[in-house]
Amino acid sequence: MDVFMEDFLVQPTLETARFLMDVGVAGLEKRVFHPTAEPGCDGDDIRACSICLEDYEDGVEVVVTPCPGRHEFHHRCIANWLRRSNTCPLCRHAL
Ligand SMILES: [Zn+2]
Ligand SMILES: [Zn+2]
Repeated sequence: MDVFMEDFLVQPTLETARFLMDVGVAGLEKRVFHPTAEPGCDGDDIRACSICLEDYEDGVEVVVTPCPGRHEFHHRCIANWLRRSNTCPLCRHAL
């Protein structure tokens, strides 16, 4: 039971959320973001989540969407997004 799951426990639509989370996010690639390990200085790296617009913190878990741009979002943010949509929030590619 991690922090991500606990977020859903306080919501009335737990069962729906859990179901969609499983089908929407479980199959997606995840990784841990480390700013110091990212390729540097080419300027176009996306270092912030495009859903909540917050910069990634060191060690945060991000989900890599299987779209051509391989966009990345907070695990929690993309899970919430996929409750309403099955497209990439950035490029609208079907996931
Ligand atoms: Zn986010
Ligand atoms: Zn995308």
